[in-house]
Amino acid sequence: MNLVHSLIETAKSHGDRTAFIYEEKETTYQQFLDAVIKFASGLHKVGVKQGDHVALLVGNSPEFIIGLHGALRAGATVIPINPIYTPDEITYIIKNGDVKTVIALDTLLPVMEQVMNHVPALEQIIVCAAAPGGAAVKNNKIKTFTEVLMSGDPELPLPIIHKDQTAVILYTSGTTGKPKGAMLTHYNLYSNARDLLSFLEISKNDHIIAVLPMFHVFCLTVAINVPIICGATILIVPKFIPSEVFRISRNYKATVFAGVPTMYNFLLHYPEADPSDLQSLRLCVSGGASMPLTLLENFEKKYNVQISEGYGLSEASPVTCFNPLDRPRKPGSVGTSIINVENKVVNELGEAIPAGEVGELIVRGPNVMKGYYKMPEETASAIQDGWLHTGDLAKMDDDGYFYIVDRKKDLVIVGGYNVYPREVEEVLYSHSSVVEAAVIGVPDEDYGEALKAYVVRKDPSLTEEELTAFCRGHLAKYKVPSGIEFLDELPKNTTGKILKRALRQTLLSKDIQQ
Ligand code: AMP
Repeated sequence: MNLVHSLIETAKSHGDRTAFIYEEKETTYQQFLDAVIKFASGLHKVGVKQGDHVALLVGNSPEFIIGLHGALRAGATVIPINPIYTPDEITYIIKNGDVKTVIALDTLLPVMEQVMNHVPALEQIIVCAAAPGGAAVKNNKIKTFTEVLMSGDPELPLPIIHKDQTAVILYTSGTTGKPKGAMLTHYNLYSNARDLLSFLEISKNDHIIAVLPMFHVFCLTVAINVPIICGATILIVPKFIPSEVFRISRNYKATVFAGVPTMYNFLLHYPEADPSDLQSLRLCVSGGASMPLTLLENFEKKYNVQISEGYGLSEASPVTCFNPLDRPRKPGSVGTSIINVENKVVNELGEAIPAGEVGELIVRGPNVMKGYYKMPEETASAIQDGWLHTGDLAKMDDDGYFYIVDRKKDLVIVGGYNVYPREVEEVLYSHSSVVEAAVIGVPDEDYGEALKAYVVRKDPSLTEEELTAFCRGHLAKYKVPSGIEFLDELPKNTTGKILKRALRQTLLSKDIQQ
């Protein structure tokens, strides 16, 4: 089995079921498959060959899903890219990823033409109209999505797809350096979706909200491939706007919501929230960043639905652990290893360490990437003896549940003591006037490093002294931040992850200015 066959199988057995709903329009699995085959054959007609690299710069929409599966059916490798990247970032990926064809929003056409001037290997651009009447074709290197789709001939033969063929390349910053392209095969992605599906007991009756960005692997697996495998319905939400999530959940009786903690935070604090809008939800899944305990408890209390936290990374397609549904859920934990995947906590020498001790989390399974595209050295250091080194610090309890302690590179050493910022952030989040918090290490003359907290507060009268005193009541002295700065919002990437790198940079530029 691979991703292409799973869609064919689902269309065969559940052809009349709704595959996705977008702007009130429903598309069945049969219509979805027909569009995929036509688009795949249209891609062949415009010269896309098996093994070619096709970049996808499209927001959450039917075009993303049809573009992705159409290009896969054509035998191409897809490189999803965040459409709001700068021209430089896009150029880097298109060049490094040897992209020949780009499928992009028409609003990106000027940027893409700029990129084309810098990357001669880029042959053509297929534009999707953001609005009716958009996407006027200017020259023979630019075609429209509809034109390619309509030119497809479903009778034309399409290539055989091998399960070990690279399906997507996901550019990720990983732990260090320039973005690296994680190569995920058809089987990597298929197996992860299949194993997660049974672990989370997702079935054809589920309606899954797809509001996470589709170019990110979390959405790709949880809200696109999982539903496709079992015939569930994808509720496409183009942008994270709380009122839209509530509306779509109410109108289409959503049963599963997948989000990052920041989204849960926004939904929790949304002033016009009506908890009955989410009453059809049976499961909320969280991943991508640690879920603060207070947020989990408050959300569950307000909306009367359980949040199950999991963990993963692009290089593992992405999911490696999840809180199981058939055994107790442990708040604060990312759960147990999902089916077919092994997780292990090791010391600096790569040896397994006893339960309760903190070490690096390493992962093995059918979901682990082939490697980084054209980066053999980075691949060799990331995958050793078949184990993917995640760069995350974790511990396991006696029942086999994992706890992500922090990223290895975010560990702060204060006067010789290890401080995991996440522990301090948990305490800050538990203060009733704190909406969001992030803690980083800053250079300190006396202690080597000190802790600095950035906080978004609900109540403007909350002072640094008050919050510091609160921390003193809950943390050992060396874990109490030596400085707290209040911000209106924390810098985040489009997936909703708090960008500690940006906080460090702001601090650095402030120091330089002083
Ligand atoms: P990405 O490759 O963009 O999916 O990012 C993967 C990284 O997100 C992991 O290496 C972790 O550092 C972080 N991450 C994912 N899930 C969790 C979680 N539940 N708790 C803490 N960190 C997480």
